[in-house]
Amino acid sequence: MTKVLVLGGRFGALTPAYTLKRLVGSKAEIKLINESRFSWLRLDLPHVSIGVKDVDEFKLDLSQALPEKGIEFQEGKVIKIDAKNNEVIYKKPDGSIEEEEYDYVIVGIGAHLGTELIKGWDKYGYSVCEPEFALKLRDRLATFQGGNITIGSGYFYQGHNPRPKVPENLAPFSDAACEGPVFEMSLMLHGYFKKNGMLDKVKMTVYSPGEYLSDLSSDARKAVGEIYKEFGITLIQNFRVREITEHEIIDEKGNRIPSDLSIILPPYTGNPALKNSTPDLVDDAGFIPTDLNMVSIKYDNVYASGDANAITVPKLAYLAVKTGRIAAQHLANRLGVPTKVDKYDPAVVCIADNPLEGYGVAVSDNTMYKGTHSTAVPSPVNSLKKELFVKYFMWSKGDLALEKYFGEW
Ligand SMILES: Cc1cc2nc3c(=O)[nH]c(=O)nc-3n(C[C@H](O)[C@H](O)[C@H](O)COP(=O)(O)OP(=O)(O)OC[C@H]3O[C@@H](n4cnc5c(N)ncnc54)[C@H](O)[C@@H]3O)c2cc1C
Repeated sequence: MTKVLVLGGRFGALTPAYTLKRLVGSKAEIKLINESRFSWLRLDLPHVSIGVKDVDEFKLDLSQALPEKGIEFQEGKVIKIDAKNNEVIYKKPDGSIEEEEYDYVIVGIGAHLGTELIKGWDKYGYSVCEPEFALKLRDRLATFQGGNITIGSGYFYQGHNPRPKVPENLAPFSDAACEGPVFEMSLMLHGYFKKNGMLDKVKMTVYSPGEYLSDLSSDARKAVGEIYKEFGITLIQNFRVREITEHEIIDEKGNRIPSDLSIILPPYTGNPALKNSTPDLVDDAGFIPTDLNMVSIKYDNVYASGDANAITVPKLAYLAVKTGRIAAQHLANRLGVPTKVDKYDPAVVCIADNPLEGYGVAVSDNTMYKGTHSTAVPSPVNSLKKELFVKYFMWSKGDLALEKYFGEW
């Protein structure tokens, strides 16, 4: 029987695994390998940091969820993919090394968050990208007495060569991998300090390694600038953070911003397991270049989906789901099940939530890809929409079969 390995355990892996299973049934043996038995939904980790949610609300047990739908689960950390010999090499929880062959592999192991690239991170850095980061920030905020807060993204070490085999406008370049959470955190902290009666004790600065929210239209960026003016938030652009100290952040040129609490979306680089794989599988940063069907430009039986794919810019769950679904649809045809393959029409779609002030800003924008659509709408309904999306994700155990009916998320 045809064997399909799916690597990863969030949007970029769960979507293709569930979709493929639904499409091909028993025509293929599908096995998903993730480094942990558990998977945490990232979208609500900012909510954990301000204390309105707990991490256990977003914890999926993959060892239960996947077998219930006929997908085998294996806990293991992928060390590398040997694309020439059709093998995934991974380390099992007992420490043994397994070399497993595949007919097809779908790679959804995401990007690497390069905290090691920022000096002083371990001592002074805070973030929300993983459950332990969000909990650490929650504890810090609970004892914060006031002062300077900075929020920003590290630089995005994006690949330049070889390029994906797609029209240039569909795989743009960006200095930041994903600034939505920076925007969301700046709104949320305004709500947090307002609720705690501490707004006058806090000075917030938002910074960007390039032009802030460059994935949105200039009108949307202007609207964000207006919100920041109203909130008294300073915006600094072209600041590539290199070091954090106790009371400052410092960029590559030596510029400094006062910072008693430094919240960073770490620099994104290619996943170490991919950098360690067959060299021509990946680009010069460790992401997999593909065509519009999410097939590797070098290895016909390798698919890439989500943040691990070079074409997904910015690194967004919305794009991870799109690319994951396309990969599964395309593969289903090759496994003998005629299936319509969606067109890859990227857009920046997300909701920056501010639950403590009772609204969210819904963004839907394709101008980065030379489209003309751009909306950024603040509304209480958006906060509710995000909440419903998270509930749906948890209820379906990450199987977003009905996601397209949500329209925005
Ligand atoms: C704080 C935050 C908030 C966000 N909010 C939004 C939002 O509101 N809307 C939106 O659209 N996007 C949002 N994003 C972006 C979104 O979370 C990512 O684009 C999305 O999670 C990408 O999914 P992925 O599965 O491709 O990669 P990842 O989420 O990085 O998942 C990778 C998976 O692979 C596993 N893995 C990694 N390496 C290995 C290995 N060597 N072996 C085995 N397993 C491995 C990991 O454990 C993980 O399970 C947010 C991002 C952050 C950081």
